[in-house]
Amino acid sequence: MSGYWLPFSRSHHLGELGAALAGQKVRLMGWVARVRDLGGVRFVELRDRYGRVQLVVDTTGTMGKETESLRMEDVIAVEGEVRARPKDMVRDDSPAGAIEVAVARVVMLNKAEVIPFNIADDVKASEELRLKYRYLDLRRRPLKENIELRHKAVLAIRNFLSSRNFLEIETPMLVRATPEGARDYLVPSRLHPGSFYALPQSPQLYKQILMVAGFDRYFQIARCLRDEDLRADRQPEHTQIDIEMSFVEEKDVFALVEAMMSTVFHATRGVELETPFPILTYAQAMDRFGSDKPDLRYGLELRTLSEYFVGTEFRVVRQALESGGAVRGFVVDEGARLNKRDVDELEGIAKSAGAGGLLSLRASGGTLAGVAAKFLDAPLQRRIVDGLGMRDDSLLLALVGAPAAISAILGRLRVEVAQRLGMDQVPGYRMLWVNEFPLFERNPETGGYAPCHHLFSMPFQEDIQYLESEPLRVRAHLYDLVCNGTEIASGSIRIHNRELQERVMAVTGISKEDAARRFGFLLDAFGFGAPPHGGIAPGVDRLIMTLIGAPSIRDVIAFPKTQKATSLMDDAPSPVDPAQLRDLHIEIKDGRSPAEAGGD
Ligand code: ASP
Repeated sequence: MSGYWLPFSRSHHLGELGAALAGQKVRLMGWVARVRDLGGVRFVELRDRYGRVQLVVDTTGTMGKETESLRMEDVIAVEGEVRARPKDMVRDDSPAGAIEVAVARVVMLNKAEVIPFNIADDVKASEELRLKYRYLDLRRRPLKENIELRHKAVLAIRNFLSSRNFLEIETPMLVRATPEGARDYLVPSRLHPGSFYALPQSPQLYKQILMVAGFDRYFQIARCLRDEDLRADRQPEHTQIDIEMSFVEEKDVFALVEAMMSTVFHATRGVELETPFPILTYAQAMDRFGSDKPDLRYGLELRTLSEYFVGTEFRVVRQALESGGAVRGFVVDEGARLNKRDVDELEGIAKSAGAGGLLSLRASGGTLAGVAAKFLDAPLQRRIVDGLGMRDDSLLLALVGAPAAISAILGRLRVEVAQRLGMDQVPGYRMLWVNEFPLFERNPETGGYAPCHHLFSMPFQEDIQYLESEPLRVRAHLYDLVCNGTEIASGSIRIHNRELQERVMAVTGISKEDAARRFGFLLDAFGFGAPPHGGIAPGVDRLIMTLIGAPSIRDVIAFPKTQKATSLMDDAPSPVDPAQLRDLHIEIKDGRSPAEAGGD
C-alpha cells in the first residue's frame, strides 16, 4: 500500500466535502491526524489545509490490515464512499462534520517519523522546539489561519492600492549603505574587494527617487532588514506596505490610509472602522496619555493636579512645585481591584524609571486615604475627590517632578494598570493618528541631535527658522498610525529641496561633503525637478498581529527568527566554507564575538 507516486488524482480537498456528496466516491489525500480503534471499526481522522474528515475502516475485512500501521502525520491517499453521519453524530464545526468516508483503498504516500509534538490547536511544546520543526507548527490550525489571514490582508491591500492608481515597483535588495538609524546588514562584494552592499533598511531613498522619476503613486510590499537588538515585537527582517505619493499633504496620506485600513479590516475581519480616525498631536498624546502610541480602548487619562497642592505642607511636593515641577496623575475608577501589592509593584516600576515615589490616594466617603492624605486637609481632600470625579474606591495614582518626565512614567503605569485590570482585552480596534512630532531628538550617545524618524521629513515652515538655533523646537510633518496601543505605520511629508535637506543633515552632524558622499544621488535628483511628495509605511507583521490580537510577532510570520536573530530550523547564521570567504576577500580574525573577546 505504498508508493512514491500518486496512485490517482485527488477528487476533492477536505474543505469541499459535505452532505451533498453523500453516496459519491471520493479520492482524498492528507495527513493522519488521529487513529482510534473501536472493536471492528477504525476511525482515522484525515487533515489537510482546508479541514478534517473522519475516515471509517471496517477492520474485519482486508482494509483492517492495510490501515494497521497508520500513525500520526503519515501522508496517505484514500479512496472511499461518502456517507452521511447519523444525526446524533454530526459535528457542526465544518460541512465535512456531516459526513464520513468509508474507506475502500489506502495508499501510504509517506510514512512519518514519531513527531516531536502533537499538532494540536493548543500546543504544549516549547517555542524552540516549535521553531526547529516549523513545518509541523505551521500544520496547526491557529498558525495556518494566521498565514491565511495575512495573505488575505496583503491581497486586499494590493487590490486597493492598484485600484487607486498605485504601481507596485520593486526596488533593489543590494543597496548602498546609507544607515537610516539602525545598523545595516552588509553584503561583501566579490567583484569589488573591500566594498560592501547593504540590505535595505527600507526602500526610503528609492521611493523618493521614484517620485522624482514621475511615478506619482508607488507602493511595494517590501522586505526591510535591520541589524538591531530584538525586542518582543521586532524581527531582523520585517515587511512593510511601502507607499509614496507626489503632490500630497498630510491629509491626503491620512485619507488614503484610512480607506486602505477600512478595506483590510472589512476583508479580513468583517469590521467597519469609523473614519476619519482621530488625530492627536505628539504634544497632546504625551500630555493626555504619556505615550506617543496611546491605547484608546481605555481612559485612565493623565491630569495635572498641581493646583490642588499649591502651598501644601507636603515638603517633597512643595519643593517640586517651587522648582517648576508638577503633580500629575490618573484616576483608576476600579481602584478596588488593585490591592496594596499591585500599588507597591507599580511604585517599583515608577521608581526604576526614575520617579521619586508614587502617591496613591483611595477615595472613600468623599475623603482620601493613603500615606499622603495626612498632608491634605479635609476640605482639600473633598476638592480633589469632586474635582477628579472620584467615586468610592477610586484610586488616584500620581507622581511629582518635571512634567515631561513624570508624564512618560505615568504613561507606562497607565498601560500596566490597564493590563492588570484586563482593560486592554476589550475587543475592537481603536485607531488614531499622532502627528506634529519633533523633527529631532537628543542622541544620548553623542549628545548631538538625531532625527526622530529619519532625515527626510519636512519641517514645519514656521519652525525652519529654529533649525540651527533650537533644533528640538522644530516640528515636522511626521505622523504615526496607532491601533490599540501599537504603532502600525510611520511616515512623513518629505523634503524635496537640496538646500533644506542639507541643512537638516547638518543639524545631525552630517557635513555638506559627507552628505554629498553618502546621499549625493538623492540630493542630485532633487536638482532635476523633484515634486513635493510624502508617504508612509504600515508594517505588515504588526498590522496582522493587531488584527488577530496575536501575542507574538512570530505568530504571523511563516519563518521567523528568534530574539537572538537566529533561525532554529535551518540554523542560520552559520559559518561558511573558507573558499567562499576567500572569494569575498574576507578573513575571520577571531571567531568569537567582540563581547566574548572582551574587545570593542
Ligand atoms: N521608510 C520609513 C520607515 O521604514 C517609512 C516612511 O517614512 O515612509 O520607517
